[in-house]
Amino acid sequence: MTIVFNEIDKINNSYERIKYHKLITCNFPKCTNNPQAHFYRLQELKERVAYQQEYIGCGTAISTP
Ligand SMILES: [Zn+2]
Repeated sequence: MTIVFNEIDKINNSYERIKYHKLITCNFPKCTNNPQAHFYRLQELKERVAYQQEYIGCGTAISTP
C-alpha cells in the first residue's frame, strides 16, 4: 500500500511541474499581489510573438471595463 501511495505522489508531483512550465503568471502590478491572479498559457504567448503582438494586456483588465 505504501509503495502505491508513493507512486501516486510521484505522478502528482510530476503533473505539478508540467503545469508550472506551461502557465505563466501575469506580472502586472495589480496581479502580482493578487492571490487570484490569472495565468497565461505558454502557447498563447508564443502565438502572440509569432504574430508580432509582443505586448499583451492584463487579462483581468480586458474583462473589467
Ligand atoms: Zn493580470
